[in-house]
Amino acid sequence: MAAQFDINELHWLLDIVQSIDVGVVVLDRDYRIEVWNSFMENHSGLSSAEAAQRSLFELFPEIDQDWFSRKLETAVLLGTRAFTIWEQRPYLIRFNSYQPITGLADAMYQNVTIMPLRNPRGEADHVCLIIYDVTGIALNKRQLEAANLQLREQAHRDGMTGLLNRRYWEQSLEREFARYQRYETPASLVMFDIDNFKPINDNHGHQTGDEVIREAARVIREHARETDYAGRYGGEEFVLLLPDTSLQGAAQLAERLRQAMERLIVEHLEQRVSFTISLGVAQFSEEMSSAFDLVAAADSALYQSKQAGRNRTTLHTSDDT
Ligand code: GH3
Ligand code: MG
Ligand code: MG
Repeated sequence: MAAQFDINELHWLLDIVQSIDVGVVVLDRDYRIEVWNSFMENHSGLSSAEAAQRSLFELFPEIDQDWFSRKLETAVLLGTRAFTIWEQRPYLIRFNSYQPITGLADAMYQNVTIMPLRNPRGEADHVCLIIYDVTGIALNKRQLEAANLQLREQAHRDGMTGLLNRRYWEQSLEREFARYQRYETPASLVMFDIDNFKPINDNHGHQTGDEVIREAARVIREHARETDYAGRYGGEEFVLLLPDTSLQGAAQLAERLRQAMERLIVEHLEQRVSFTISLGVAQFSEEMSSAFDLVAAADSALYQSKQAGRNRTTLHTSDDT
């Protein structure tokens, strides 16, 4: 009676192991497969008959043998379970993932439990691997991380133009100034303000004014390099910090910006608006004791451009104040 019951119990257990939605593998001490449940069959395409008695490492050469056997042998030695998690290694055995959104994960992320199995004499002569498909969890986490990164990036930008906002731009300026002080790498600043912007707002409306600001920002982006810091400093006032650039180099870029803006015709709400900008250019110099001296220098050159009739570039030279 008792033996009959045990055999029934064994059948149930086998049914459970077969139908459970995790991978169950039993290995002998030579890493030969003894149990390979239907989860493993479905994902590997190998039937349990095909897998039986084959070496795990021969069937799946992607497994890092040194790493995995060290982990497994330690578990056997200590008689305790060991775990591998997807954050450290995305998977033990490479299975295709069937995520609806392609391109995000082409391999199943796995957590694995390694469990020594003892025979009636108390010897751990087999090891059970339980393989969990954690692709959903991993993708959620990865997407959350990407979203956080994007949020952080957005916190640095001005919503209207996508240029760096003033706060972040000033932090970048301070970093660049520290670099100048330490290594004497040159850096220059082009600062500009749209000419007679109030009349644009008054004559064409605030929305068209906004469009002019966005177009001016687009022109800056077109002219800036990846390593430059283009920022919106105020309403219609912009800054472009140019690392590793001399005053002359910055002046050339300033002139190209001035001409590009002058040529531009902004079409918005059936209006056509053209505009000009006044620019000031300065570079880091020895007399400067803080990063903001550079802004003050470019600003005073910009003021001179306004005074001299607008739509022009002025370079700040050291003897100016
Ligand atoms: P100037 O040639 O001397 O620069 O003359 P200006 O008329 O451009 O004078 P100023 O630079 O002082 O004027 C800035 C104006 O820009 C004032 C403000 O109403 C307007 N402004 C600031 N921010 C925005 C904005 O985001 N959108 C719009 N449409 N207008 C703005
Ligand atoms: Mg202005
Ligand atoms: Mg202004």
